[in-house]
Amino acid sequence: MIRELPLAQHPLGDAVFSIYHTLNEKGHTAVVAGGAVRDFLLGGSPKDIDIATSATPAQVKNLFRKTVPVGQAFGVILVLVESQSIEVATFRSESSYRDGRHPEKVQWGTPEEDAARRDFTVNGLFYEPERHEIWDFVGGLKDLGDRKLRAIGRAVDRFSEDHLRILRAYRFRAQLGFAWDEELAQALSQQSALLTSVSRERVRDELLRLFTAPFRDQVVPHLVKWDVLATLFPGSDWTVDTYSRWTSIHQELALFELGRWFVRSMPQASLPDFLRHLKLSRRQVQAALAALTPWFDLHNLQKPSLGEIVDRLWDEDFRAGFLEARTTQWVNSAAGTVQRLNEAWALYQKWGPPKPDPWVKAGDLPFLQGPSLGEALRQGYWRQLEGHFQNRDEVVAWIRQNFTARAPSAG
Ligand code: ATP
Ligand code: MG
Repeated sequence: MIRELPLAQHPLGDAVFSIYHTLNEKGHTAVVAGGAVRDFLLGGSPKDIDIATSATPAQVKNLFRKTVPVGQAFGVILVLVESQSIEVATFRSESSYRDGRHPEKVQWGTPEEDAARRDFTVNGLFYEPERHEIWDFVGGLKDLGDRKLRAIGRAVDRFSEDHLRILRAYRFRAQLGFAWDEELAQALSQQSALLTSVSRERVRDELLRLFTAPFRDQVVPHLVKWDVLATLFPGSDWTVDTYSRWTSIHQELALFELGRWFVRSMPQASLPDFLRHLKLSRRQVQAALAALTPWFDLHNLQKPSLGEIVDRLWDEDFRAGFLEARTTQWVNSAAGTVQRLNEAWALYQKWGPPKPDPWVKAGDLPFLQGPSLGEALRQGYWRQLEGHFQNRDEVVAWIRQNFTARAPSAG
């Protein structure tokens, strides 16, 4: 198909044309490949532009002054021109995946073979920038028109080859809002178990992109229904409802998961440190602080009285984080914690909603003032929540015993 894409207007356009001409003069084929073609055809502006070429990596290295071999085994060379950098990859064919991620054998191939090893048809298009030709070996143009995500080849096989593609299928749908083709959806519904072999870093990157993408709500019910979240976070008890709670915090789930990874990898770092790295609004930071506290300060949940934890459970964000913390393996491994969380939860359910009023108010304690008054009220309320008292008089009596006013006069 002949169609001109607005490559020249793109910030990387000059660099792409420069690389294209250098390769072309030496008789090599060069085309824009994959996601950039897709994004241009959808009317968007791709954030990066990759080139695919018939030149071998050694030839690419020889033709350009500045190159970085970013993935030489796969034939990918970063070429620096016009103060930009562009990935240039040799056309290749791939076969027999070893470990659900890496192909056993990489062979240089034809453009057609290179298209065939890509993941989804809409990602398998090439663009010849001088002749304005779109090369479509995989039916990507039709699927782009139909707004459909379809695997190149049999979805089940492509997912078995490379398990990360499963997450990519969810992520691209969340980004593009395309429907899954039926065969792809079928495979997704059956193959989530393969995700256990995908590295945590990859999972994190994909989930972060997915949960900040415009059509994420189309995808989340499937993540739940097809056990993606249950597989990735064993022991957690995800429901669509959980997700809805978290959507009150923008970037909610991704943030939450990121927080968990952060805690596990750097237990000494504080939650505010972590949040500072993310550009969040004040409200988001507050919500995230409350929700993530049960994770970050787990050892601190041993410290406060049961009543204090119960008191905080009426805070929706704290409660959401608490509930997640309570149902995951990570917490389960902390000795004694689960029992404590369960006790707190039982008390919370016994009392509310709504949150019960304190039986004792400041006016009931004329013998106290200032900080000790505040402290007495708090402690009294927490003990009330723990069920130590039958009525107001018992609270006052307990406070009298435990909080003495600084004696106004001696003897
Ligand atoms: P974006 O950059 O927005 O994530 P993209 O389509 O450019 O989208 P990349 O991860 O940058 O995605 O990969 C570039 C291209 O390489 C894809 O369009 C696809 O053709 C191919 N590709 C990437 N990852 C895989 C994979 N795991 N299996 C098969 N092909 C892949
Ligand atoms: Mg890309």
